[in-house]
Amino acid sequence: DYGLSEADPEVLEIIKKEKDRQFKSLELIASENFTSRAVMEAVGSCLTNKYSEGLPGKRYYGGNEYIDELETLCQKRALASFNLDGNKWGVNVQPLSGSPANFEVYTALLKPHDRIMGLDLPHGGHLSHGFMTPKRRVSGTSIYFESMPYRLDESTGLVDYDMLEKTAILFRPKLIIAGASAYPRDFDYPRMRKIADAVGAFLMMDMAHISGLVAASVVVDPFEYCDVVTTTTHKVSPDDYSIRFFWYLLTVWPQCRSVFPGLAWDIALRILRPENSLISLQSLRGPRGGMIFFKKDPVLGVDMESAINNAVFPGLQGGPHNHTIGGLAVCLKHAQSPEFKAYQKQVICNSRALANRMVELGYKLVSGGSDNHLILVDLRPLGLDGARVEKILDMASITLNKNSVPGDKSALVPGGIRIGSPAMTTRGFTEREFVATADLIHEGVQISIEAKKSVSGSKLQDFLKFVKSSDFPLTDKVSD
Ligand code: PLP
Repeated sequence: DYGLSEADPEVLEIIKKEKDRQFKSLELIASENFTSRAVMEAVGSCLTNKYSEGLPGKRYYGGNEYIDELETLCQKRALASFNLDGNKWGVNVQPLSGSPANFEVYTALLKPHDRIMGLDLPHGGHLSHGFMTPKRRVSGTSIYFESMPYRLDESTGLVDYDMLEKTAILFRPKLIIAGASAYPRDFDYPRMRKIADAVGAFLMMDMAHISGLVAASVVVDPFEYCDVVTTTTHKVSPDDYSIRFFWYLLTVWPQCRSVFPGLAWDIALRILRPENSLISLQSLRGPRGGMIFFKKDPVLGVDMESAINNAVFPGLQGGPHNHTIGGLAVCLKHAQSPEFKAYQKQVICNSRALANRMVELGYKLVSGGSDNHLILVDLRPLGLDGARVEKILDMASITLNKNSVPGDKSALVPGGIRIGSPAMTTRGFTEREFVATADLIHEGVQISIEAKKSVSGSKLQDFLKFVKSSDFPLTDKVSD
């Protein structure tokens, strides 16, 4: 039995390159983070070998006594992490990820072609909340259920609850979905509860993006108002590395220095602050997976527990990924620590510092700011789109993503960028470093504006070709 270096050096080499990329960049993708060695040990363990269709104590295979123990422990920790009373709430920890978890809820509570309402994808919602275009039913959710998305009020960037209410009264959905992939504000759950009650709908929250913030009680608690709550387990998941100031000096700093010389020294010196080098955060750090929390009492005549458990297996899935459940149990233990709460508070402080600095620099933010871990910057007033800025920043090892902003004409060339604070908070960034990060992004945007002026035509490819062949300071960092 060989290790990876002997068995498959080719795959090992790819893993090394990806690890290098992850550690050399300023990671600002709102849905990503760094998991811990402990979680990775569990995920890479012998738990992957075992089949265990069913639930603890009710399996279709023998040899599951330890898997039962593990899954029960994971369930217990999941409920404890969100301060839930096990008599009132149950949880299924088997969903393979966030999208399957959502689809499992739909098939548990709805009949084919029942009506649902989720936030529209171009306004921050997720594909699995029923996305469709006028021409095409894109997501499975919109193929098998009738979807009528609600949207933001474009003048405020906030969910248009009045319109949601009016539409719901006409459309009579069976399910209303709160939660989003790119919405910087808390949802108004009491208002959504009222709307759901008025039309006889279930209320679901997909808290994938903010589950860590919910567990740490630093955002509004959706469990008080919703019938069912889903989440991924890998997004807002912090880490417990001691800060690696030498990591910054050896990796990010040389790259930033050649791209944004003015700020490279500044940010490097901040990273070297002695108190930063000692920060150690122990907290939630999930493997890629999903969870569904459900009320134990029947809702609208549905026995939630059996409907949801049956929708997961045998409805949509087969054997659970026990190695993932092992990793999840490990991260949920960390989620109950005081350090976890401190980390999540810092995520929010950092996001606010970033938002404030971007506003000071003259940027327009969707909704004007942020209550959570992300901000959405509208680049259209600068005559730019998110795709160009994403590429330019990529060249400087600053990783974020282009994102639709309300009013966009095309989802392919969206007018904004989404910037998240969780991953770099994991690495010890505080407000000061996020202010410096905003300045770095600003330099990238200035470069994009200059480059755009010099390129005729609007094709992204022409723009990139021009940047690569020009004397812009980042040219020597570009690799094909
Ligand atoms: N729900 C929300 C709000 C998300 O943002 C995402 C992923 O981006 C998902 C669900 C889907 O998660 P997964 O990619 O794990 O299926």
